[in-house]
Amino acid sequence: MRILIRGARLIDPGFLDGRMDVLIQDARVADIQPEGVIKVPTGNDITIYEAAGYILTPGLIDMHVHFREPGQEYKETIASGCRAAAAGGFTAVCTMPNTRPVNDNGQITRFILSQASKACGVRVYPVGAISKSLDGKSLSEFGELKDAGAVAVTDDGKPVTNSLMMRRAMEYAGGLGLPVISHCEDMDLAHGGSMNEGTVATRMGLQGIPNAAETIMVLRDIALCELTGAKLHIAHVSTRESVRAIREAKRCGIAVTAETAPHYFTLTEDAVRDYSTHAKMNPPLRTQQDVDAICEGLRDGTLDVIATDHAPHSPVEKDVEFDNAANGIIGLETSLALGLRLVESGVLSLTGLIEKMSTRPAGILRLTSGLKIGSPADITVIDPDRVWTVNAGQFQSIGRNTPFDGWTLKGKAVLTMVNGVIVFDQRPKAE
Ligand SMILES: [Zn+2]
Repeated sequence: MRILIRGARLIDPGFLDGRMDVLIQDARVADIQPEGVIKVPTGNDITIYEAAGYILTPGLIDMHVHFREPGQEYKETIASGCRAAAAGGFTAVCTMPNTRPVNDNGQITRFILSQASKACGVRVYPVGAISKSLDGKSLSEFGELKDAGAVAVTDDGKPVTNSLMMRRAMEYAGGLGLPVISHCEDMDLAHGGSMNEGTVATRMGLQGIPNAAETIMVLRDIALCELTGAKLHIAHVSTRESVRAIREAKRCGIAVTAETAPHYFTLTEDAVRDYSTHAKMNPPLRTQQDVDAICEGLRDGTLDVIATDHAPHSPVEKDVEFDNAANGIIGLETSLALGLRLVESGVLSLTGLIEKMSTRPAGILRLTSGLKIGSPADITVIDPDRVWTVNAGQFQSIGRNTPFDGWTLKGKAVLTMVNGVIVFDQRPKAE
């Protein structure tokens, strides 16, 4: 089986940008040539896709998703999560370990990989837990997790509050070459708050969470990163002070990387004004000043990665009073279009966006990526001009908890291919 994708603008950050033809054969990129150079092969086993006007990129990678299997399959299964990823243009995802039971041992990691192998084909890279059962008290066996296939460790959803524990985690993970992904939150300072601290929270009568609850932990973990020499990755950055701290750490040569999520550069705390639980997340949505700083951090490279923190919940957890609602929103099927808004507004170049959604996460986690002859054919084809309206009811994800329902967005993945196999195809039907 051979596939020829013709005439798309191929963007592979730091490598290629131009109109190219790409030939895929035996699950690999067999040839890449300027448009028209590859002679159209003949035979029954060839499919030709005309892709003029589209963008072709290395497969997008979302390094922060919560699929709820094992344990809460009514929210999301690995199969449904993979379908949502494919529909969003993602060829690979990294699953956070806060499943039930927690992914704190090789057996659960292998179970996740086995379920993933039966799903639509999107690559799943499990992330193991730092502490057993996420209790913050005893370390998991990182070696066992790594041997089973884990690509990093984190207690995401919870901070590692004990600094000695975090130090040991970094030393252990550093020795194995595993990045430590940190959920930065000072729980005492967050004090059970349910939205950003400020006048909006006061007016709404809700307990607020100050920016410092995040930034204190960012600063602590940067200090521990410097102490241990481990690789630290800060998850879901939401505050301007965190951006500043990470920028300064990078300037000093500390091995820290960081991600933010589309909601943190798209929305402010105003989205919470009508007590919409679909705008409740942790860390919470912040102010316009923070949004501006997040955009600047993306622009100047302080923030390396855009990840969704895709967190499906059912109405049981979300259709309740604001204080009691679960944190988190789904993101896999809106992330690319929200990212493209940054290109539209001049924050990022198209290449810069693809870097943050593909090659940078791959680099941080040492995953294969990129479109070179001979490399696995993980490819995303994007229609940058497709205007569409978000309809959560039609998502592949089981989750419906998105604040973007009803939004009109521009740009969409129209073809997602993993290892030469098409896992999502929404090109316009031929006349
Ligand atoms: Zn998360």
